[in-house]
Amino acid sequence: MSGLVDAAKARLGRPILLTLRPRADRRRDEPGRCSACGHATTFAFNSWVIPDDLRTAWGAPEVGDAYTRRESMFCRNCCASLRVRRFSDVLLSLYAPGMHSVAALVQDPAFRALDVAEINTIGSMGSLHAQLARLPKLAFSEYRGPEGLGEMIDGARNEDVSRLTYPDASFDLMLSSDTLEHVPDFRAALRESRRVLKPGGRHLFTVPIVATRPATEERAALGPDGEPVHRLPPLYHGRGAGIYRYIPVGADMLTFTEFGRDLVDIIRECGLEPELFEVPGDAVGAEMVFGGRAPG
Ligand SMILES: [Zn+2]
Repeated sequence: MSGLVDAAKARLGRPILLTLRPRADRRRDEPGRCSACGHATTFAFNSWVIPDDLRTAWGAPEVGDAYTRRESMFCRNCCASLRVRRFSDVLLSLYAPGMHSVAALVQDPAFRALDVAEINTIGSMGSLHAQLARLPKLAFSEYRGPEGLGEMIDGARNEDVSRLTYPDASFDLMLSSDTLEHVPDFRAALRESRRVLKPGGRHLFTVPIVATRPATEERAALGPDGEPVHRLPPLYHGRGAGIYRYIPVGADMLTFTEFGRDLVDIIRECGLEPELFEVPGDAVGAEMVFGGRAPG
């Protein structure tokens, strides 16, 4: 997709996500300060962000509800979702405990000195990418998935996250958000993280997880011809419900993996020291953020 189309889509996409929603959703908006952009603003609920078939596959209504909040509650200033703000909160707690936004963090000399990789644009309509792009040493790449559907932002390189082209021990910090579930072999991707991280470096990431589910579930794999083989009915992330069935605002990528609570063990099996950042009262796990630290 061309940069011009991307730019147009971002301009159109923000007001769409903030305004095109059932009227009753307004009652669930909340005031607050955005930890991505730093603005005092309103967070806009949008009950159409999760597709109906995904909700059905999850079964328990509280899972669908928790993910609807996670994937909406859009900052009226930068369009960061609750997921992106939660990711921002953890980033701040680890790298600049006194700061209140990633907008401030990226101006911090100590943070600017780090070698940071952003894998796959982070944030609805690039909301967190817009901040991270201010880092002088940011290595930014997109992941298009085996279907080649992922979107490309101007200036990004395209990387297969299970076979990165970066040299060993390149990064202090890798960041990805809701990407590993679209990778046919996410374990290979975690092992690649370990390879390209410096000793003691960290891959901080989110994935959709149903924390009440003990085991990670492989829904699809790649066949010998490179086409997906489905073990369970295919689920896609990208389209939503309501009007968003017809105007997807993200790439409609196949979900290869649905993660369960054992993800922490899997991170360890892939050679990284797992970290789990939870929010009290979040039984579903929708606001969990994960880390994997390279030994050293
Ligand atoms: Zn914001």
